Amino acid sequence: MFKKRDIIPRTGPTMQSLSWQEQLAQAIRQPNDLLEYVGLMAGSIGYSHKAIAQFPIRVPHVFANRIKQNDPNDPILRQVFPYIDEDHEVSGYIKDPLAESGVQPVKGLLQKYESRVLSITTAACAIHCRYCFRRHFPYQESTASSQHWKTAIEYIRADKSIHEVILSGGDPLTLSDRRLTEICSALASIKHIKRIRFHTRLPIVLPDRINSTLLKILTDTDKSIVFVIHSNHANELDDDVSTSISLLQRFGILVLNQSVLLKGVNDTVTSLINLSERLVENNVVPYYLHLLDPVAGAAHYETSTEHAIALINEMQASVSGYLVPKLVREEIDGTSKTLI
Ligand code: SF4
Repeated sequence: MFKKRDIIPRTGPTMQSLSWQEQLAQAIRQPNDLLEYVGLMAGSIGYSHKAIAQFPIRVPHVFANRIKQNDPNDPILRQVFPYIDEDHEVSGYIKDPLAESGVQPVKGLLQKYESRVLSITTAACAIHCRYCFRRHFPYQESTASSQHWKTAIEYIRADKSIHEVILSGGDPLTLSDRRLTEICSALASIKHIKRIRFHTRLPIVLPDRINSTLLKILTDTDKSIVFVIHSNHANELDDDVSTSISLLQRFGILVLNQSVLLKGVNDTVTSLINLSERLVENNVVPYYLHLLDPVAGAAHYETSTEHAIALINEMQASVSGYLVPKLVREEIDGTSKTLI
């Protein structure tokens, strides 16, 4: 049987010589390919056919390289493998856990909190995180794609109370450089916008995306640029990630991290402290630790609120305050995230 690892080594020059687009195109898309890539037998972990038909598997090789070989409980593998548990229907776990369909003033824009709007710029991500609260999001109806972007920009221009635009998705850094230039230039032309914030996992899962062309696009605007990256475990942060983060910082970009508390991934105090330590080594603020949003298919990642509070209390007793992220929950009618 054809195996991607026959042509792509786990590390080495082959991957380095591929562009970020080529790396994305070659991402692992089959559960058994992923198992074999990490030294496990095909079929050794049961997976949900139904779940991958709805939300396919996607894992770039550079990210899969950080999964320990022969370890079915690896915390990175656990974030991306479509376990059979995804088939279990659990009461309270629904398709739109944050009721985002009700907060769209125009197509592709979500306005939940004062002074900022969030733009769904694309449906695409470089990785499919199995716990993602937008895994059932109706992107076809709700993306500010090129034809709807004009209306979105007019909406932002007309509302002077909006000071920050969050580019989200999907992942905005999967967009082409041309499209990102259009978006950044349009936002740069609006005087009352102070900041453009990117919610992105690409510096973690596909670090080669942070290249000189992208940095030029980001720094060509006079707006402040903020990156909120998303890492859940210290093992995700290898030297290539450090390089991508330090490039952003060298160009004056503030980098913060948000994580999701996930059973079997990072639900121990050691794991959370190691993640914070590694982030701070990279000058990244460990900003938020989210409780899991109850999205259908992700109930097996749930940890109790009591356990989450105990973890944060233990962290507070053991490390400097700036290593302790804010424990938060996103609520449907909240005027901001709810601090736990
Ligand atoms: S990168 Fe973000 S938006 Fe994409 S699947 Fe992961 S959590 Fe969801």
